[in-house]
Amino acid sequence: MSTPVSYYFLAEGCSYFDVHAIRRDFPILAQRVNGYPLVWLDNAATTQKPWAVIDRLSSFYAHENSNIHRGAHQLARQATEAFEAARETVARFLGAPSSNTIVFVRGTTEAINLVAQTWGRQEVGAGDEIVITYLEHHSNLVPWQMLAAEKGAKLLAAPVDDTGQVMFDRYVSLLTPRTRLVAFAHVSNALGTVLPVREMTAAAHAAGARVLIDGAQAVAHMPVDVTTLDADFYTFSGHKVFGPTGIGVLYGKPEVLTAMPPWHGGGSMIRDVTLERATYQDPPARFEAGTASIAAAIALGAALDYLDRLGVANVARYEHELLAYATGAMLTVPGLRLIGTAQEKASVLSFVLNGHHPDEIGTALDRHGFAVRSGHHCALPILRRFGLDATVRSSLAMYNTRDEVDRLVMALSRLTG
Ligand code: PLP
Repeated sequence: MSTPVSYYFLAEGCSYFDVHAIRRDFPILAQRVNGYPLVWLDNAATTQKPWAVIDRLSSFYAHENSNIHRGAHQLARQATEAFEAARETVARFLGAPSSNTIVFVRGTTEAINLVAQTWGRQEVGAGDEIVITYLEHHSNLVPWQMLAAEKGAKLLAAPVDDTGQVMFDRYVSLLTPRTRLVAFAHVSNALGTVLPVREMTAAAHAAGARVLIDGAQAVAHMPVDVTTLDADFYTFSGHKVFGPTGIGVLYGKPEVLTAMPPWHGGGSMIRDVTLERATYQDPPARFEAGTASIAAAIALGAALDYLDRLGVANVARYEHELLAYATGAMLTVPGLRLIGTAQEKASVLSFVLNGHHPDEIGTALDRHGFAVRSGHHCALPILRRFGLDATVRSSLAMYNTRDEVDRLVMALSRLTG
């Protein structure tokens, strides 16, 4: 097994953040693409995986593979223990009160659809209101549109100002006694805006609404504590926090999950079943029909342990400085306009360049080894708010460096020059 190099630098509680040691934990970052060193700046789409995750996946399949929860043999016990230990790790990582509040799903999209189609179908009726924001990813928009259409409910969106931050007073003015649910991103994937989630949650609760926070773009970049946030639901995807694809998390307050009906039926989500009817397990098993992504859940636990060893607060501090540096550097590129300039931001630099379509820039950068994204980033309403249907998005993670930012700025300057 490969040794996580950065562990030695940080194991003693030292807060020194050695980005080069961390980079050595991520084998893909040493690759060349199109003859150039890979510069991975597509972290908002997905993050790269450290040896700790790669090794955990392969050791599971090499030594422990079994289905879980239903076998009496040794490997079934071992796999079940590892799977449930991963659930404990997620609970600790999110500051959740117990592992029973953690439901394993495929990702953020599935988590939000689960809430819409279980809690939503039960709790939202004709004339009720659901409040979101203009910043939402389609995954935190379309499920609510579908629910509103099915139930005859109204979907309202809080506007943002010219920096890309939610206009708090306008948001509060949307909250009424008819508001059943408020759903918003912790961090916008298109602009990088960090929303004032604590204040937004408190205002929604004061209006009697439940709150779902889409944490897909937050967990890899800042400490998250669902108890302090007082979120009713919090969701994230494993692949955006250095874990595998095909695994994600829905956190729900115990009393909220307990009152929710199941979604998918089958497998061991039942307590008992006859040909006529079934009774269901308590959460989280009630919401985990069928065979789970067992190895992926266990490897997600390894990803969170890895991040924990580095210290999420250290990661946040490092990335904050890197983002400030990158913002200043990007603004030196002639004709570059940053989209999303809120005071509180994380990871994302979204931009357009005079006279160049975003796709053209993406392709030109790719030829030089840069992985950035061009397009609508599955968040069309917010781009249209800025009169656009596409931007170039470069998104940073803890393994990116100032040197990579300098090279990006140089490449962009050459394009415009
Ligand atoms: N929400 C946000 C803010 C996102 O950035 C994404 C993915 O980009 C999603 C939801 C959907 O995540 P997934 O595709 O992993 O389900």
